[in-house]
Amino acid sequence: MVLRFTPSGIYCPAGDFHIDPWRPVNRALITHGHADHARHGHARYLATDIAAPVMRHRLGAIKLDTLCYGEERRIGGATVSFHPAGHIPGSAQIRVEVKGEVWVVSGDYKTAPDSLSTPFEPVRCHSFITECTFGLPVFTWPTETEAAQEINDWWAANASAGRFSLLGAYSLGKAQRILSLLDPSIAQILTHGAVEQTNNVLRAQGYDMPPTLHVTPDLKPADHPGALVLAPPAALGSTWARRFRPASTGFASGWMRLRGVRRRRSVDRGFVMSDHADWDGLNAAISDTGAENVYTTHGYTDIFASWLKDQGYNARAVPTEFTGESEEDSIL
Ligand SMILES: [Zn+2]
Ligand SMILES: [Zn+2]
Repeated sequence: MVLRFTPSGIYCPAGDFHIDPWRPVNRALITHGHADHARHGHARYLATDIAAPVMRHRLGAIKLDTLCYGEERRIGGATVSFHPAGHIPGSAQIRVEVKGEVWVVSGDYKTAPDSLSTPFEPVRCHSFITECTFGLPVFTWPTETEAAQEINDWWAANASAGRFSLLGAYSLGKAQRILSLLDPSIAQILTHGAVEQTNNVLRAQGYDMPPTLHVTPDLKPADHPGALVLAPPAALGSTWARRFRPASTGFASGWMRLRGVRRRRSVDRGFVMSDHADWDGLNAAISDTGAENVYTTHGYTDIFASWLKDQGYNARAVPTEFTGESEEDSIL
């Protein structure tokens, strides 16, 4: 097998490397900077040049080598390359070829384009290791334009009613994607430190986002009437958020498609927006790879693998330590 599933993570014997391993290893190829994929403790890292600044920001002084999208690198008996996954800036699917047999590890991916990430590109392969965080037919996403309209309308209505808009979004990826959709003519955009730090890393790379103001202890909310406050979901119910009153709260996530989750989160508004593929996106992506063998990770792995078997694939759920959309915020 080109890739194997081991206790440390996905392993390539021909090249003696791991992909997104969850135990410390000698050589780790990393699909993207989220905490469940890019972990501390590996001796050497390889990632895309675009993912590198965020990884350094999160992991500190690591030994990190980079490749551009599409660039090939020979490692032992394997040839590897990184291809756009459309999940967050710099995110990649990793293609591994050994003696003509091709495997692709999807990492996390989103097939619909947004304004920041390099758009997803299907990669032909024999075996595809796919995430399926949202592998149920109920998960369908609105277009980027529809999502932008919904959020800006909510914000504008709150601002004209004299309320703050407290919006929860994961601090790496989702927050910046939302930021790029906001209409700064409505009022000031304020940010929690975790969001602002990532903004600054991406701005330094040339990503264009509206101006934001970091919420520091001396900031007076009254000076910024109607402001939208962009914060990690965990900060929404905290004392940090309580200074912004009165406020309407919102949360942007694929999980907002489920009424029960919306209720449990006790937010005023749920915006259905995910950095992962929806049901149609997953099925289209898998079909486009031309793969015969499909391994499912993240989320509804068993149900989704059964569905794929019914569609004629050799499919199998694989236990991993990847967590999906709920835990991506452990950057804090
Ligand atoms: Zn991710
Ligand atoms: Zn993941």
